[in-house]
Amino acid sequence: MTLSSRALGATSLVALLFLAAPTGDAARPANRRVRKKVIATAYCLGPCRTCETQGLTSTGTRGRRGVAVARRGHKRVLPLGSSIWVPGYGWARVDDVGGGVGRTQIDVRFRTHRLASQWGKRQIQVVALVPNG
Ligand SMILES: [Zn+2]
Repeated sequence: MTLSSRALGATSLVALLFLAAPTGDAARPANRRVRKKVIATAYCLGPCRTCETQGLTSTGTRGRRGVAVARRGHKRVLPLGSSIWVPGYGWARVDDVGGGVGRTQIDVRFRTHRLASQWGKRQIQVVALVPNG
């Protein structure tokens, strides 16, 4: 899988190179890079009645930034643990799951419900580093 540098802005390319720098055996890279078109909705960490969140992600973190994918047993656009570049948001970790998240959808987490509301619903292309194995 190759990643065209034309498709990325200078900032994201620098961030990608930084994160993709080899950390061990070069013959067995820790991540593979994938590009996907997704629907990106937003939610807040909560506790929030609208987002049905309790202030804690499903992986037990309280990170105010992060990305949720479909819940266990459902098709996910990316696995938990992936690092993902979301245009308009930045780098984040896939560290949560959501019952209402579809198979081609990510849910981007914000610090406040107001910020999540401002994000709305977008169709975007993301770049992800998916852990091997
Ligand atoms: Zn909310």
